[in-house]
Amino acid sequence: MLLTLDKFFPLFDEKSEEGNHSDRRFIALLNEIKRYHELLFEEVNKAYEVARRARQKGLDPSFDVEIPIARNMAERVERLLHIDGIAERILELEEKGVSREKTCFIIAGEIVKGKFGEFDRLEAIDKAVRSAVAILTEGVVAAPIEGIAKVKVDRNDDGSEFLKIYYAGPIRSAGGTAQVISVLVGDYVRRMFGINRYIPTEHEILRYIEEIPLYKKVANLQYLPSDDEIRLIVSNCPVCIDGEPTEDAEVSGYRNLPRVETNRVRGGMALVIAEGIALKAPKLKKMVDELGIDGWEWLDELVSKESKSDSEEKENIVKPIEKYLSDIVAGRPVFSHPSRKGGFRLRYGRARNSGLATVGINPATMVISDGFIAVGTQLKVERPGKAGSVVPVTSIEGPTVRLKNGDVLRVNTVSEALAVKDEVEAILDMGEILINFGDFLENNHPLLPSPFVYEWWIQEARNKLPRGDYKKIDEDAALKLCDEYGIPLHPDYTYLWHDVSVNDVLYLRNWISSKGKIEGKYGKSTLVIEMDARGKEILEKILLEHKVRDGRIVIEKWKVLVRCLGLNNELKKCTDAEAETALELVRKLSGLDIRARSPSRIGARMGRPEKAKERLMSPPPHVLFPISHAGGKTRDIKAAINYTSSYNAAKGVVNVEVATRRCKECGKETIWSKCDCGGIAEQYYYCPKCRVKTGSTVCPNCGEETLGYTRKDVNVRELFERALQNVGERDTFSIIKGVIGLTSKNKVPERLEKGILRAKHGVAVFKDGTIRYDMTDVPITHFRPKEIGVSVEKLKKLGYSVDWKGNELKSEDQIVELKPQDIILAKKAAEYLVKVANFIDDLLVKFYGLEPFYNV
Ligand SMILES: [Zn+2]
Ligand SMILES: [Zn+2]
Repeated sequence: MLLTLDKFFPLFDEKSEEGNHSDRRFIALLNEIKRYHELLFEEVNKAYEVARRARQKGLDPSFDVEIPIARNMAERVERLLHIDGIAERILELEEKGVSREKTCFIIAGEIVKGKFGEFDRLEAIDKAVRSAVAILTEGVVAAPIEGIAKVKVDRNDDGSEFLKIYYAGPIRSAGGTAQVISVLVGDYVRRMFGINRYIPTEHEILRYIEEIPLYKKVANLQYLPSDDEIRLIVSNCPVCIDGEPTEDAEVSGYRNLPRVETNRVRGGMALVIAEGIALKAPKLKKMVDELGIDGWEWLDELVSKESKSDSEEKENIVKPIEKYLSDIVAGRPVFSHPSRKGGFRLRYGRARNSGLATVGINPATMVISDGFIAVGTQLKVERPGKAGSVVPVTSIEGPTVRLKNGDVLRVNTVSEALAVKDEVEAILDMGEILINFGDFLENNHPLLPSPFVYEWWIQEARNKLPRGDYKKIDEDAALKLCDEYGIPLHPDYTYLWHDVSVNDVLYLRNWISSKGKIEGKYGKSTLVIEMDARGKEILEKILLEHKVRDGRIVIEKWKVLVRCLGLNNELKKCTDAEAETALELVRKLSGLDIRARSPSRIGARMGRPEKAKERLMSPPPHVLFPISHAGGKTRDIKAAINYTSSYNAAKGVVNVEVATRRCKECGKETIWSKCDCGGIAEQYYYCPKCRVKTGSTVCPNCGEETLGYTRKDVNVRELFERALQNVGERDTFSIIKGVIGLTSKNKVPERLEKGILRAKHGVAVFKDGTIRYDMTDVPITHFRPKEIGVSVEKLKKLGYSVDWKGNELKSEDQIVELKPQDIILAKKAAEYLVKVANFIDDLLVKFYGLEPFYNV
């Protein structure tokens, strides 16, 4: 399924669900998303129309809006690669139902044959390889541009030519499939040009074998192929996988090889071989078979090797991984050590506010950890990936704590957490961490054993039990269900037996049997035990809630516990057993089917705190206008207008590098796109060597590159006064910040009017002329209107007409699915956005002479 605007709708097939109850819901949502996309198109077009009219006034470096609208993958690929006509062809193939992979080869072949214009050999190979990556990545990542550095033809020892593809770090973002297809396409087109396959020397092979593990050490690889696998790949792959140096680390063994340009580690190369070819070998083989490409038969061997090492890996998976603790920053706490007891307990699933690279924890854990974990805080995690943002999820378990008075309790809500926060002596368990299956899939991490949770229990118990609600049941009921229906013990009463030893269980059993006493009536009785340090410690380890009163331990829920220890309700030993593990032992002693409650722990530390803040340069300018050092440290334009370069120089004249432009009408020199006379000013260039002016970026005399700017005197005072007049503002500003110099190619400055209005509205400009705001990005799929402070009426205007069930949206409490292009802003971000909208409106009216657009 394509995630492009025009292909997005058929997510639900209108016909296939006939007569189904869910029909109504699907059709309502389907219609709504269609309307929503139409609305987006309309609004985008409206905004573009206004922007175009503003640009046509000639007050900016460009007369039109630079960013083109791409409506689908094909258009994005065309614009990304600057190959005319390729979009139409991709769409044509798509219509015919040609697979994505096959499309890559057809397009590559047609590029080589000159269908999209004449290119020389290297250029054609380059474009063919890049378009394959672009097509497979939907044209949405920069990988085709930044991930492939270049292609080159070199010579084998026998004098024949072979093809090299140089990969760079950003190829990581393309993913394994696009990586391998770039190699395959490289192989395909090199044959069209009659280029031979790559025949590596023994030293080159050994260089790869040295370098790839080194990359794993200094950077990261999800999968490290064995030496044999690397040898197999390198000696058989018909295209030479090369790369730009990406790390500072250098190989020590196979240095200064004649055909390898660097001794430094080539990250892109390592990624393509390890995470591309080695990891995707089965998929690659399938593609090669389907497309009928020869010369890749060796993949069979790799695939069979792979499955072997996979099983080896599976035996090791539960080993603690310490990597997330490396390069730790002072002041950022470690919440749990690798796989250690007491740390976060893995829980599979996804809440409406969590998802890929976003983990859920109970908000009580946030409070108990003293606010070090907030919404959006980035956690570095032990597995399955590297990091995840944190969001609060109330439906999973919170932390278990020991209070100063010795009480041990589970804290599941924020109000409970706030109530006990100051009394906490120790956090015995961080609570659950919610990680979705997709994160394991995405990171290619084998699944860890799941905790035994209600969802699992009910699956096993459902068919054996009479109908009823079993989510929260009492101890008597839990034991009764086990005995009568032979189902596993309810998770609420399944303690963490796997965290203690056989001796611990026996100790607990003896202690409770000899020092314990049941007090109160059977209906509301408690188990009271004489204090014992080791006994208490074991209770804390299995996360069993208890209190300490008058120096004695009081357990309210004691019946399942004593049953697990093989004691009867008079605390007499009634069974005996031997076992290797504590879990096995309590199973035997109790005769109950007790499962491993939380066998998988996830280590975590704080990565970055969350943030929502405008993105500023330092110091943050209001306008991209160069004033050299005349504005002092703060780059103040108002200081520059009073600046004199020497005793008798004119006030406000600064000497800066600015664009060389000349009016087509009156011939006057100007720094803007439009002359004061109203004529359009043309960019011209200057050869600093021959001192000639030319219309070309290359000197007609010497062939060197020319410059589009020159150093000259600019009267800031005059320009500033005129700008104030133009926008009808009085000079009441304390400071308006410019820049020392411009970094753009031709150094066309911004008009000072923009700076005046930005200063007025309190917004800053980024170096590319945009106004930016950075926020931590976390996924959310559903929301309640009242949670985000938007009224039902407003939501309806934004295209939300139904709730997630397809019922009409009427109340602020209904759960609504967030639309794919919509985001929920932080309050601070919204406030900044209002300032920006007011600035734009002011600019449209006072500077461009147009109507306001936003009217916030
Ligand atoms: Zn003019
Ligand atoms: Zn020249």
